[in-house]
Amino acid sequence: MADPIPLRPRARLAARSAVIVGGGIGGLTSAIALQRAGLAVQVVERARKLREVGAGLQLSPNATRILRDLGLLDKLEQVAVAPRALEVRDGRKGTVLARAEYAPAVARFGAPFLVVHRADLQNLLAEAAQEEGCGITLGAELVTVEPTTGGVRAVVRQGEALQAHGGDILVGADGVRSAVRAHVCPGVSPVFAQRIAYRATIHAPPGHPPDVRLYLGPNAHLVVYPVKGGAMLNLVAIVHDTRPVTHWNAPGNNEDVRRAFGSWAPHVRELLEQVPHFLCWGLYDIAPLPRWSHGRITLTGDAAHAMMPFLAQGASQAIEDAVGLEQALRQESEPEAALGAYEDARRTRTARIQNDARRNGNIYHLSGPVRLARDLVIRRTGQRLLDRYDWIYAA
Ligand SMILES: Cc1cc2nc3c(=O)[nH]c(=O)nc-3n(C[C@H](O)[C@H](O)[C@H](O)COP(=O)(O)OP(=O)(O)OC[C@H]3O[C@@H](n4cnc5c(N)ncnc54)[C@H](O)[C@@H]3O)c2cc1C
Repeated sequence: MADPIPLRPRARLAARSAVIVGGGIGGLTSAIALQRAGLAVQVVERARKLREVGAGLQLSPNATRILRDLGLLDKLEQVAVAPRALEVRDGRKGTVLARAEYAPAVARFGAPFLVVHRADLQNLLAEAAQEEGCGITLGAELVTVEPTTGGVRAVVRQGEALQAHGGDILVGADGVRSAVRAHVCPGVSPVFAQRIAYRATIHAPPGHPPDVRLYLGPNAHLVVYPVKGGAMLNLVAIVHDTRPVTHWNAPGNNEDVRRAFGSWAPHVRELLEQVPHFLCWGLYDIAPLPRWSHGRITLTGDAAHAMMPFLAQGASQAIEDAVGLEQALRQESEPEAALGAYEDARRTRTARIQNDARRNGNIYHLSGPVRLARDLVIRRTGQRLLDRYDWIYAA
């Protein structure tokens, strides 16, 4: 009997198999993109259950366009909200400084802005990865990465046992505290950014508008937007704090939040009062890395370019990385050359976004007379608020 005709163009790819360390948004999107390109993909994830925390995520057209190309946008739109406008408000007075409708930008970029609960996006990605045939091993924590003859492998601890998962390439999608990063850029550690993020979701008050609201105040800001089809509101309160916090998704102290926002507009305080328990994240920053790859190992998502959340681009950039890596593997014939081409294509853009996000954080938290100057500029910008990020959304 003749050999079956392969359905996928494996022979043209620079690699036939990949091990991905980390099953977050970056790791799962890469898994889908690479498996669809014809690689056999194995994801190893430390968590015993794939579950994203109870918080929201903004996705811009540069990411939703890719999710559409991967055939996932229809399902995503069933659980996400397409917000109507971005409003920037004075946190203390509660008044609108500027309002930009999303519709013109959606028309310009041909893909939507969406706000979604992280768990909804992660479930959708995990389901799609498994449908594509990716293996996902849960409860598997990376111990080390080793070269093999003609490849590379991840040694993981699963309970008491050590297991090895080998492939032609290994992708570190293991987040801001990446263990894979040490094999690419030894000695690089994330630095506490003197900011703490308190996050929560609450039931949306009746008639709450489907907008993304950004409230600015001295040393703090608050982002509010709907998730779960508009039934819930996602709140992200970011405060300046010099006390190093190593927590990641730990219970936050509601009193700290009340104190930080004590002199803000009554309707803002009322929203914060409705939160039974905040979860709290210390924000950690990393300067753009000098390289993302070493041999057959590469990095993606926060492992490669952890950024401050003040441009809402971390996950969207992880999604862009996935197709960047897939395209490089199609275009080059050797794994090392493909990983080099991938990082060459991605590093300048993500470094610029990292720097702009950091700068936004400083602008958001201004106090004194410079704050008034900032507000004047925002007022004058009005509907053009989103235009300055065309270079991000158009990609
Ligand atoms: C407050 C806040 C708000 C944000 N808002 C937005 C937003 O609106 N829009 C946006 O695009 N981005 C936003 N981001 C950024 C976004 O959350 C991240 O950039 C994104 O989640 C990164 O995805 P990732 O897959 O690279 O990493 P992660 O989501 O961190 O996933 C890493 C995975 O690797 C696993 N892992 C870690 N170590 C190991 C190991 N040793 N062995 C095995 N597995 C391991 C982890 O369990 C995890 O599942 C925000 C971030 C914060 C903190």
